Amino acid sequence: MASKISGPKLVEPFEKFVEQMVTRIKAAWPKLADQSLSLYAGFVRETANRHGRSAVDKLIREAINREPELPSIAKLKMYLPVEVRQVKTSTNPQCPDCEGSGWMRVFAGNTTNGNPVDAVQGAVRRCHCWRKESA
Ligand SMILES: [Zn+2]
Repeated sequence: MASKISGPKLVEPFEKFVEQMVTRIKAAWPKLADQSLSLYAGFVRETANRHGRSAVDKLIREAINREPELPSIAKLKMYLPVEVRQVKTSTNPQCPDCEGSGWMRVFAGNTTNGNPVDAVQGAVRRCHCWRKESA
C-alpha cells in the first residue's frame, strides 16, 4: 500500500536513470565498447548529481544530434546546457544521510511521476545538505 507521506517530491531510483541514459548513449553510438560503459555511467552519475537530471537529458540529446561519432567524455561535457554551467552545488561530504552524494534513498511515498516508491528498490531525493549556489 502506498503510504501518504507529504514532503519533498521523490524521483525514480537514481541508478535507473543512469542506466536509461547509458542505454541511450549506447544506442546512439553502438561503437561504445562495453568496457567503457562504466566510464560513461560515471559521467552521467556525476553530472546528474551536480547539475540535475534534466541537464544530463538535454546534454545527451544535444550530443546525439551533433556528434556522428562517439564523443569522448571531455567532449560530452561541452554539451552541458549553458544555464546550468553557472550553477554551483555543494554537499556536505561528512553528511550522515548521503555521505556527500547529495541524494538520500527513501522507501516510501510517491515519485514525481505519481508512482508509489518501490519498497525494496527505493527512490532518491535531494538530501538536506545539498545546496544550490549561483556562481
Ligand atoms: Zn547529505
